[in-house]
This record gives sequence, C-alpha cells and structure tokens, in this order.
Amino acid sequence: MDCLFCKIVAGEIPAQVVYQDDSTYAFRDIHPQAPTHVLVLPRKHIASLAHAEAGDQALLGHMLQVSARLAIQEGLGEGFRLIVNTGSDGGQTVDHLHIHVLGGRAMHWPPG
Ligand code: 5GP
Ligand code: ZN
Repeated sequence: MDCLFCKIVAGEIPAQVVYQDDSTYAFRDIHPQAPTHVLVLPRKHIASLAHAEAGDQALLGHMLQVSARLAIQEGLGEGFRLIVNTGSDGGQTVDHLHIHVLGGRAMHWPPG
C-alpha cells in the first residue's frame, strides 16, 4: 500500500519515534506547529476517523490515552491540544488516521 505513515510504521521511512506498542505508533511531526508536535497513529491502516469501524473502538480509546500520556511525558502538564483532521475540508493531508498532540505554547480558539 502506498501510504506514507504505513511506511514510517514499517521502518521504511525514518521518523523520530517517541512511543510504540502493539497497536499504536507515535513520532514527531516533520513540520512542528508548536514546541511539542507528536502524531499518534494506529499501526494498522485506517484511512481516517470516518473510516474507523465498530471493532476499532478499543483502539481509538487507546490512542486517546496514549496521546494524553505522551503529552504529560512531554512536559505539557499545563495543557495540550489533540486534533484529528478528517477529510479534505477537515485539513487531512495524509490518509492514515492520526492524532496531532500539540503543546508547549498557548493554543488559540477558534482554530483556523
Ligand atoms: P494532516 O494534515 O493529515 O492532519 O497531518 C499530516 C501531518 O504529517 C502534517 O502535520 C505533516 O507535517 C506531517 N508529515 C507529513 N509528512 C511527514 C513525514 O514524512 N514525516 C513526519 N514525521 N511527519 C510528516
Ligand atoms: Zn497507512
């Protein structure tokens, strides 16, 4: 499958990996939008949040917990933001589900 993030999970493309377990993988974004910018994704290919199925519920919950734990590990105890861009209007540019973990600066609302 010609998927950038599947290739990173497979070790075919290098990345700054910060966490991995049986079902998830996390690495630093190549174009960080905040002092901390980590991507948390499922090892298995799910094209987007809209493509997740009923059987993925536990995996999705685990991804959220991994994201929060990583945020704390990264020193973001003052707060952080999780983002899941979904589809073209949602700003998704890589079609493999991922959670952006952003922090280390104050976030703004509403987002752009
Ligand atoms: P999206 O726009 O789909 O929500 O997020 C994709 C993210 O992947 C972007 O923030 C982009 O900077 C990041 N990205 C794209 N290509 C690479 C890459 O080759 N390596 C890493 N580490 N991040 C990437
Ligand atoms: Zn993939």
